[in-house]
Amino acid sequence: MGKADFLARGQWNAFCDRCGEKRKSGDLKKTWDGYYVCPESCWEVRHPQDFLRGVKDDQSVPWTRPEQADQEVSNSSWATPTTVPDGTFDNSL
Ligand SMILES: [Zn+2]
Repeated sequence: MGKADFLARGQWNAFCDRCGEKRKSGDLKKTWDGYYVCPESCWEVRHPQDFLRGVKDDQSVPWTRPEQADQEVSNSSWATPTTVPDGTFDNSL
């Protein structure tokens, strides 16, 4: 005879989902995930990390500007092989 083998009106025998001990149904406590366990030894408080909520990470920049269209630049003032002055490396032209 186990310790749960007695008459208790409105209760029935049940086993702890964690340790398998035979208990009366009213002695077991339901966990957050739906198991019925011994309240003294097998029941645990739900971990606080389960209640954390993520913070939205907004990675957008505060302001932007669209890229401007390419602009043609006059190359008339650029040096060409014919406009490069002749010279020497000893500063004598
Ligand atoms: Zn148990």
